[in-house]
Amino acid sequence: MIAFDLRCVEHHIFEAWFKDREAYEDQREKGLISCPVCGSTEVEKILSPVAIKKSSSASASSAKPAAGAGDGAEVQEGFLKAMEKIYKTVLENSEDVGTRFASEALKIHYGAAEARSIRGVTTDEEEKMLQEEGVQFTKIPVPAKMVKKEEIN
Ligand SMILES: [Zn+2]
Repeated sequence: MIAFDLRCVEHHIFEAWFKDREAYEDQREKGLISCPVCGSTEVEKILSPVAIKKSSSASASSAKPAAGAGDGAEVQEGFLKAMEKIYKTVLENSEDVGTRFASEALKIHYGAAEARSIRGVTTDEEEKMLQEEGVQFTKIPVPAKMVKKEEIN
């Protein structure tokens, strides 16, 4: 499961959950995703939070979301808590490079910058570029309210 912040043609912003990125692309192409405010199916993903972890640290191992499929409210609640935990771990252990994420990630990848854990945001185009360059990065599913909180700070 992954959460995306989406925006419709009328600029309404809403959060939606998908099994994975492919599920989002598939549903969007088929017009299955509609804006909860105006019902438009012309939606696009807005900047998504991403992170690169320098090395595996012990603190992250306990923050994995519960495995297994389920659709109950309890499962969803537990999943959101796990996501918040991962997000907090990332915040505490990485440098925020904001919209410079793609360029910083490339510098680290090619040894032009110090190897370190960074986080930031990318556009779809930047993500594709990073993938083509073979840069390993992680999507961070962040509750929308926490994204907004961080943007204000
Ligand atoms: Zn709308």
